[in-house]
Formats: sequence, structure tokens, C-alpha cells
Amino acid sequence: MESLYDDLLTEEQIMFRDAVRGFAERSLAAKALERAHEPGFPLDVAEMMAEQGLLGITMPEADGGQGGTLMDAILAIETVAAVCPRSADVIQAGNFGPIRTFVEYATEDQKARYLAPLLAGKATISVGMSEPEAGSAVTDLKTTATPDGNGFRVNGTKVFSSHSADSNLFLIYLRYGPGVGGIGSVLIERGQEGFTLGRPSRYVGGDDWCQLYFENVRVEPENVLLGEGGFKKQIAAFNIERLGNSARALAFGRHAFNIARDHALTREQFGRPLAEFQGIQWKFAEVAARMEAAQLMLYRVARKADKELPSAYDTALVKYLCNEAGFFAANEAMQVLGGLGYTHESLVEYCWRRARGWQIAGGSLEVMKNRIAEGVFGRRFSQRPPKPKA
Ligand SMILES: Cc1cc2nc3c(=O)[nH]c(=O)nc-3n(C[C@H](O)[C@H](O)[C@H](O)COP(=O)(O)OP(=O)(O)OC[C@H]3O[C@@H](n4cnc5c(N)ncnc54)[C@H](O)[C@@H]3O)c2cc1C
Repeated sequence: MESLYDDLLTEEQIMFRDAVRGFAERSLAAKALERAHEPGFPLDVAEMMAEQGLLGITMPEADGGQGGTLMDAILAIETVAAVCPRSADVIQAGNFGPIRTFVEYATEDQKARYLAPLLAGKATISVGMSEPEAGSAVTDLKTTATPDGNGFRVNGTKVFSSHSADSNLFLIYLRYGPGVGGIGSVLIERGQEGFTLGRPSRYVGGDDWCQLYFENVRVEPENVLLGEGGFKKQIAAFNIERLGNSARALAFGRHAFNIARDHALTREQFGRPLAEFQGIQWKFAEVAARMEAAQLMLYRVARKADKELPSAYDTALVKYLCNEAGFFAANEAMQVLGGLGYTHESLVEYCWRRARGWQIAGGSLEVMKNRIAEGVFGRRFSQRPPKPKA
């Protein structure tokens, strides 16, 4: 089926997208509503996707990946989201999330030990960046790695780690020393002595997360992912996660938009379809304009980032535009559905809840705007209070 953007895609990419759509319609569509209300990570879907070659799309074939492009992964995530929004989480986890940072920096030995079950859809990996006192100001994190023989002892607490209730492996940001330069990361396995997970808590989006507690957890040197000075590298790879988050936000908005469009064509009030009221038409016009602008920027940056990690400025622009457009679309869709939109009977409220979360997760809208402003003015603006003049 032709879309507005086909001229931006290669023939292979169009074929790939259509094949993903066929798979999603055959295997995921029937349970889309039910799946949206299940709190656990859908490992059953992950195994199916692994069989379809939809995990590790951008990763080298030598590592067990598909050797594809970032654009392929974006096409996969939005095509799946169009059919079964919840299943797009699996594409995120298997291509854009901490797995992507892991593959970027892991040693051959680390890949050999951890990658196969992740790419087979039999396990998941979570990232622990945020802490009770370090959210937007993530470089204030306090979790420490203290030298212990040839390895380290880790102490600290992490919050909001997505999929942590189900994950087997954790990529933990921590500090080896003071300042931004002291930050790096390690890999910690579920069940390691001194590592406990708190009671699962639920996001408004419906998925569970746990607080992570590390008390003198031993980390062998083989499980250091990035040592001191690793923060910039980690954030560079995290920009990929942000693009996955952007693509999902936009795709969830589009999913809700499509439901609302069908509804507006069939639901009649005052003796005519909703679509015939100008007040409703203008909602769709404004949503369409915002979504198409965000979509173009997403594809533009994804194409550019096929060869290198996306820049912070490009990523911030995409995330801001997609998060705004996705939530705006879902919110207007809810309004168009009236009372039905505010029930669990359709996926509109699910898309709305999830799209709202991405305005906070992975760098909030405000933090993205701070980054965009730095690009505009060509200089950094410290968010810290000014130092008293000597
Ligand atoms: C759905 C979801 C999934 C998440 N998944 C993960 C995960 O897997 N791993 C993980 O580590 N974390 C995760 N997070 C946490 C997320 O990264 C943080 O919530 C986010 O960085 C904001 O931090 P905070 O919640 O502490 O808010 P705060 O940093 O306390 O910010 C509160 C408000 O102040 C604004 N603000 C803060 N600083 C500034 C500034 N300088 N200028 C303007 N406004 C500012 C923020 O934008 C926000 O609106 C997730 C969060 C959500 C909602």
C-alpha cells in the first residue's frame, strides 16, 4: 500500500514495511486490545518477533543481528504500533533501548554471554539511569562503583527502570569518581547477591517498574561496560532510544487518529456524521499537519543517522516534535470519540496514556527544548545556579 512517504524509502524498505504489516495483521491484531492491558513485558510477542528477524534489526550480523538500518527499525516500530501498539514495546526493547547501548560498547565476551537470549526474545534488559535525587539532572547520580580487588562494589538506588519487573539484565549508570567525567556503567544480573528489586509499581501507561537497590553488589571487571569518562558515549547511544521513543509516540498518535477518523465517518449526531461538522474537521486538519511535519523530521534524522549516531540537537528536535504531535493526536482522538474514548473499550485511551508518558520519559519536553535552544544559540546554558562571584 502506498503512503505519503514512499519516495523517501528504498524499494527494499517498502517491501520490508509491507512484510512487517502483514505479520502484524496476521499475528498481533486480534489480541491488540487485550495485550494493551497486560502489565508484564510481552515475551510471547518477543519470541515471535525474533523469528521474524525484528529484533536486532540495526545490529551487525556477526553479533546475531540483521545488519539493517535505523530507518528499517523505525519502519518496524511504527508499522507494528499501527496494528498493535503494545507490541511496539518489543521492537523498542529489541532494537532501540538499552540493548542498543549494550551492543555499541560491549566487549566480544559480554556479547557472547548476554546477547543471544535478548535477540531470541527470551530475555530483556533494563536501564537504570534515574535515581530518587537525579532525574533530569541525571549527572547528579549517586550510585557508586568502589574498587574492590580487580573489580568493584556497587551501592545505590535506581527508580523508574522500565520492564525491570521482568528483566534479567540491568545496564546501570554509576560513578567511579566525582563529576560528569566520573560516570560510566556496568552490567548487573538479576539475582546477584546484594541486588534487590522493590515491589512493582505501575506507570499510568499500565506497565510495571521496580525500584532497584544495590548493596555492596560485586561487579567483576568483565562486567564493566564503560569506565570513567563513559557518560558522553552512553548519552550518544541513548539518542537512539530517544528516536524509538519518538517513533512510538507519533505512531500511537496516528493509531488513535485512525480510530477517530473511522469513528467520525460513521458516528452520527444531529442527523449527520461527525466528520461533517467543521469543528471536528479542523481537529483532524490540525492533527494531520502536526503529525506529518513530525514524521518528516523523524525520517530525515533516521536517514541521516543510518551512518552515525544521531546528534543531540537532531534528536531533541525529533523527540520534541513527535512527543507533542503524538499526544496532541491521541488527545484530540479521545475528544472525537466522546464518552467511548474515555473507556477501555478502544485503544485510544491506551495510546493517550502512553503518549503522555513519553513527554516525560527519556528526557522531558523541557529538557529537549533546553537542548534545542543550545543549538539555536550555539552555546551551552548551564542549568545549575550561578556560582557566587569571588
Ligand atoms: C514512562 C516512563 C519510563 C521511564 N523509563 C525509565 C528507564 O527505563 N530508566 C530510567 O533510568 N528512567 C526512566 N524513566 C525516568 C525518566 O527518565 C525521568 O522521569 C525523567 O528524566 C524526568 O526526571 P524526574 O521524573 O526526576 O523529573 P524532574 O527531573 O524532577 O523534573 C520535574 C519537572 O521539572 C522539569 N525540569 C527539570 N529540570 C528542568 C530544567 N533545567 N529546565 C526546565 N524544566 C526542567 C522537568 O521537565 C519536569 O517537567 C522513565 C519515566 C517514565 C515516565
